[in-house]
Amino acid sequence: AFNFAAGPARLPDAVLERARDELFARGPDAASALERPFTDDAFRATLAHARERLAELLALPPNYRILFLAGGALHQFSLVPMNLLGDARHAAYADSGYWSRRAMAEGARYADVVLAARHAGPVPLAAPALGRWALPAGCAYCHITPNETVDGIAYPGLPDTGDVPLVADCTSCFLTGPVEVSRFGVLYASAQKNIGPAGLTVVIIREDLLGRPAPRVPAPHCYRLQAEHDSCVNTPPTWAIHVAGLVFDWIADAGGLAAMAAANRRKAERLYAAIDGSEGFYVAPVATGHRSGSNVRFHLADDRLTDLFLAEAEAHGLTHLRGHRQVGGLRASLYNAMPEAGAAALADFMAGFARRHG
Ligand code: PLP
Repeated sequence: AFNFAAGPARLPDAVLERARDELFARGPDAASALERPFTDDAFRATLAHARERLAELLALPPNYRILFLAGGALHQFSLVPMNLLGDARHAAYADSGYWSRRAMAEGARYADVVLAARHAGPVPLAAPALGRWALPAGCAYCHITPNETVDGIAYPGLPDTGDVPLVADCTSCFLTGPVEVSRFGVLYASAQKNIGPAGLTVVIIREDLLGRPAPRVPAPHCYRLQAEHDSCVNTPPTWAIHVAGLVFDWIADAGGLAAMAAANRRKAERLYAAIDGSEGFYVAPVATGHRSGSNVRFHLADDRLTDLFLAEAEAHGLTHLRGHRQVGGLRASLYNAMPEAGAAALADFMAGFARRHG
């Protein structure tokens, strides 16, 4: 059986097995990784391991810091302006779909929001055009969502924002392939897709941007304070960080981010080929070149068959394929832990369903 949920999503089997064993493995201090105080040296070693492993995977430049924070990406929609706006009035946001619009709406509570770019649309759906984006002087940052989880849209590259730091919500594409961290001021991703248990968010920030927190930002939400205290201003999500370290080990053992990218490409190609080869039975609404490899969005030309598709898929062990309620249709999420056999099983099922009902 394969779970195609957009998140919380499938974790690698090897990670679940290690996590299960470690859940029960009490050390000489009579505590397991779930039970140990965050002030203990053993937890600090776990934290350092996760941080160092992630830095290796990302080939992190030395002037960037990794924060492991409690909460989700939605928290960052507020924490980014709270921590980066400084004396500036303006923050720019690109509109690429559902999540970028939510980030923009939250940003508008703190800043004068400028629309950096938007796809002329409506169909086929695509990311905003790249190139040099015109941003106001003194703009604190420019926020993008490189992979739109709901819409199934991925940027084919990065915009040129000049001196304005690029801030990216990488929640649904983090660690799915190599990334040039130096192109960004801040990258963040909540954990429940490619990192580990929900409740943890990874923030990667260029050191020179740590100096701008708003005076009233709560201590656990202050990037600078968290950087100074190794993400331990208060109790961090210790178990989630422990499991994240196991996931980072798994990625490294599997060949790192280049290997993730290659496998993810094969999985996505398999599904898009099943859609495009269906003679219009299945429809992918996103333009070629902008289609997400993480969240394959599609629908049936005859929407009346959607519930039957979902029921039959579930009977085949292919679960959580319903599209987001905002857009309907179907969605198959293919994060790192989805084996290639999962994408193949879904593609085969789709072909059979089209034969039976086309
Ligand atoms: N941003 C993106 C791109 C997402 O996919 C999600 C959730 O799916 C969020 C933000 C919200 O994340 P969270 O629920 O962790 O706050």
